[in-house]
Amino acid sequence: MATIVPSYLEDYVHPVIITSELSAQPFLDYTGSSEFFAPALRYDGSSSERNARELAEQARALDADVIVAIGAGKLADTAKNVAEILDLDLIIVPTLACACAAYSPYSVDYDDEHRFLGVPVHPRNSIALLVDSSLIARAGADKLVGGIGDTIAKWYESAPVFDQASDLTVFDRLAYHSAHLIHDMLLEESEPALEAVRAGDYDNELVRTLINTIIGLAGTVGGFGGVRARESGAHSVHDGLTHVAGSAATMHGEKVAYSVLVQLLVEGKESEVQALLPFYATIGLPHSWRQMNLEFTDGNLQTVADFAAAPDSPFHAAVPGVTPAQIIEAMRTLETLA
Ligand SMILES: [Zn+2]
Repeated sequence: MATIVPSYLEDYVHPVIITSELSAQPFLDYTGSSEFFAPALRYDGSSSERNARELAEQARALDADVIVAIGAGKLADTAKNVAEILDLDLIIVPTLACACAAYSPYSVDYDDEHRFLGVPVHPRNSIALLVDSSLIARAGADKLVGGIGDTIAKWYESAPVFDQASDLTVFDRLAYHSAHLIHDMLLEESEPALEAVRAGDYDNELVRTLINTIIGLAGTVGGFGGVRARESGAHSVHDGLTHVAGSAATMHGEKVAYSVLVQLLVEGKESEVQALLPFYATIGLPHSWRQMNLEFTDGNLQTVADFAAAPDSPFHAAVPGVTPAQIIEAMRTLETLA
């Protein structure tokens, strides 16, 4: 799939690629090329609005009529902003499966200190999403672990919101079932898929299924379920964690996975936490600040809890009236669980 990207560009005159330092060479190696099929701009890794504006200016100077994003989630999100600024078609070629960013029409934007700014929904989705699981698997099992963490959250974040709603449309029900299917598949098939990747068996069916689940199936949850299915407790805690010094070193999906456990404890579902911990241990997902190399201080806990329980936080959709104290207590309990 990655080798046939140019065949999707026949209707355009000036395609412009946006890629990253980390993704450019693996893509070229995989496609057996020494250079890109179009001018390639490098993003700065920040997923910031500022960088999107800079890249849009550079693409405009190249007379771009389509943007081709080759990279991971933050790169895809940046390219969505660039495509919106320039009102251009967008084609996304993911090189990692860390989240459903490549599938979704919204982006997670940060400032220059990697503090969370917001999640704008872009008026247009990409016109093509080219998922080559054999390319993605070559990035290694560790990267997929982050994707598993972000994707398992689809069920835990959407189910309590849907369970409390009395007005589910048929599309909401599809999102609900999709989230449940994702949950079951990840719990059963993640480990053998990771084993295959570690063994260098990139064209394995389990690997393909895992990557399609992380990028595609995960995207259907928010895609059909809308705002209610998109994020609630776990992503609120995650967004709070991005305000803690040193958190950028931990992958998005790892922080989300940790945050799923915080949400479950706030919901009073400690048995579900206990049931998930062996899975986390097997896969290598963190369940403590220790494992994320973050300082477990009163001040940091307060920062996360204040952010996650803010009046406009989507955590209230899962646990109406959630307070910072409840979140701090959950994080303290979690830190003591093995
Ligand atoms: Zn996420």
